[in-house]
Amino acid sequence: MQRGALNVNRIRKDFPILCRKIKDRPLVYFDNAATTQKPLSVIDAIRDYYMNYNSNIHRAVHQMAEEATQAYETTRQKVANLINSPSTDEIIFTRNATEAINLVSHTWGHDNIRKNDRILITELEHHSNIVPWQILCKQSRASLDYVDVDKGGYLDMDQCEKALHNKNTKLISISEVSNVLGTIVPIKKIVKMAHDQNIPVLVDAAQSVPHMPVDVQALDCDFMVFSAHKMLGPTGVGVLYVKKDILEKLEPFISGGDMIKEVHKYDTIYNDLPYKFEAGTPNIADVIGFSAAIDYLSHLGMDKIRDHEIELTRYAMDAMKDIKGITLYGPLDTKNKGGVISFNLGDIHPHDLATILNDHGIAIRSGHHCAQVLMEKFDLSATSRASFYIYNTVEEVDIFINALNDARRLFGI
Ligand code: PMP
Repeated sequence: MQRGALNVNRIRKDFPILCRKIKDRPLVYFDNAATTQKPLSVIDAIRDYYMNYNSNIHRAVHQMAEEATQAYETTRQKVANLINSPSTDEIIFTRNATEAINLVSHTWGHDNIRKNDRILITELEHHSNIVPWQILCKQSRASLDYVDVDKGGYLDMDQCEKALHNKNTKLISISEVSNVLGTIVPIKKIVKMAHDQNIPVLVDAAQSVPHMPVDVQALDCDFMVFSAHKMLGPTGVGVLYVKKDILEKLEPFISGGDMIKEVHKYDTIYNDLPYKFEAGTPNIADVIGFSAAIDYLSHLGMDKIRDHEIELTRYAMDAMKDIKGITLYGPLDTKNKGGVISFNLGDIHPHDLATILNDHGIAIRSGHHCAQVLMEKFDLSATSRASFYIYNTVEEVDIFINALNDARRLFGI
């Protein structure tokens, strides 16, 4: 049945994988925070590249190389438009969000973080936004500070402000939406607080850009990272946005071909932005596939996608709350929550629960979700997590609720 802002029945027809069965039941794919499914247009764009104009880019003058270069650079323009970046010079393709954060920690971090400096992150962060800073802090003898998260899944904003007033704090790196609790962090407010103290801000937008409108100029953040595979695109493509005045001062991360203008025996002149940061042959086919993914999302409208997820999340949480023995983690107010629900059911281990749900054809995630700092804070080793996207329906949520009740009965809860 069609209830939300999106024509989900129409959308589902574009995703071949949604026709498959798991354990003889229709697939219910609720693991979208890990990666999303791909529409035919994305699969076709990759196939078309390999079938019709497979060539390396930025080099040869033959027609296919020009076509490939054009398609690759068109994706960069679409990414810039999607996040309202002032220019394509500020958009760098990486392998994933993780590599994008590493690029910043290895270049900007190396040049700017010194002994006794402090880097501020939060207890909500994914390991990708923790480990690179731990390594940088060890190498530069700086310290890592955390903004606490409360029982409801919200950040302690007073503590955040206080930490930003510490004269040794040199960077805040923070996710816009938690991949575990779904918490939507007030990034704009944090950027303002940080910039008042001249502190740059890196936004881990891996869980926000795929799900809601994001505008780097409105946020005024200095760095932003996200991954194509979480927004209908292929794996192997990430994005790093960096404000131009910062990017212009950065030394290269990976070096070699394509990031150079001239190479002499003992010296090299680097290429213009953003190519200076894209050494070697990039993931051409998947960047081209990503273009089709952005088209698909833009056509639907990021506002409508957000509304659809709010509706599904509210519907699911309302039904889940009535299940005996369930614990929901994170904000209960859908205004402050993305389409991610972490929960536990009695003392059923999340892996057991995920296995039972798999028998019903339902794919959810169980484990620490690459957020062990957060798990420790909540005194948990694991949770189950359902996460939604454009092709999910309330009927699928009903199947999920029935399966949870089956599991509950099976375990005598
Ligand atoms: N940050 C957040 C909030 C994430 O959810 C993820 C992926 N789960 C990442 C970073 C890392 O993304 P990738 O594995 O694509 O680098």
